Amino acid sequence: MTTSPPYAMLAELTHRCPLSCPYCSNPLELARKEAELPTETWVDVFAQAADLGVLQLHLSGGEPASRRDLVELVAAARASGLYTNLITSGIGLSERRLGELDEAGLDHVQLSLQGTDAAMADRIGGYRGGFDRKMQVAEWIGKIGFPLTLNAVLHRQNMHQLPGAIDMALKMGARRIEVAIVQFHGWAMQNRDALMPTAEQAQEAQQIVKDARTRLKGQLVIDFVPADYHSDFPKRCMGGWGRMGLNVAPDGVVLPCHAAQTITGLRFDNVRDTPLGDIWYKGDAFNAYRGDDWMQEPCRSCDMKTQDFGGCRCQAMALAGDPAATDPVCIKSPHHAKLQERAAEFAAGTDDNLTFRVSA
Ligand code: SF4
Ligand code: SF4
Repeated sequence: MTTSPPYAMLAELTHRCPLSCPYCSNPLELARKEAELPTETWVDVFAQAADLGVLQLHLSGGEPASRRDLVELVAAARASGLYTNLITSGIGLSERRLGELDEAGLDHVQLSLQGTDAAMADRIGGYRGGFDRKMQVAEWIGKIGFPLTLNAVLHRQNMHQLPGAIDMALKMGARRIEVAIVQFHGWAMQNRDALMPTAEQAQEAQQIVKDARTRLKGQLVIDFVPADYHSDFPKRCMGGWGRMGLNVAPDGVVLPCHAAQTITGLRFDNVRDTPLGDIWYKGDAFNAYRGDDWMQEPCRSCDMKTQDFGGCRCQAMALAGDPAATDPVCIKSPHHAKLQERAAEFAAGTDDNLTFRVSA
């Protein structure tokens, strides 16, 4: 199989974040500030990424605004020719700082939404006053004129706010909303009892999105990540392992996806020691699940394998104990029935207590 250059890179600039969402996809063991790559290394990584063929750079975290050098990093990424997208909760951004980011060439902002009112958003984000600050930041974003995507993670406790989230995106002048039903990696895995939606909620969300797509055609793009524990086929995770994009963790470790370090036995390279191009083309972790030689039955002989690439490797590891197994979300997996049974058990839980993400 010929490996193409990556299209997008997610730079997790830091794991620090003022919020503590219970579904945060950051690892349970967070990188501390002292372990983060310094400015000059990130600048060099951006230049290497552009040389490698990366077109889009997603600046994420944690909260990327927690990095004091954010404006400098955006300017450097733009100077390398990368399209820059800032993925933020909004906390840590002032009107002045947003203006500086605009001058530095920031192309796009993706604002996360924990709820559509202060009571829900501040509870889920674990940050009192966060919702009001976010609304203020959204106003500044509109004033400056950044193209905006709203990013709403939905779960059992806030699923009823989906119509409100879509309305909010329209009112904010967003061009796009990403509606993602919580995916169980990282901290979300600790909160399955409290966050798992019911099958009915998952279906209803699908219908709301379908209707809204028809109603708002040409006005708002709605991306949707369904509740995979209640699905019969897996998602095309990361567009395929080592096919479209790569993640750089705050300490410089380069990953095929943000949860890849949950797969034991893989060796991950670091941009401090190895050029990005070598990691992409020759790295052990990136080559582990490229192509289909690694696949087992039923994926190996399935027509869908070139579409979904057998689903998510991290989910296969977490739920089947084998990263090369068919993603248990798939109806053809021997673990599928058990998974749906467990999903129903989690969804029937009445305990809404949350384990919040800790600070880095
Ligand atoms: S999910 Fe919440 S806690 Fe995690 S990085 Fe995003 S805003 Fe911070
Ligand atoms: S068997 Fe594998 S390739 Fe086929 S649909 Fe299921 S996960 Fe996809």
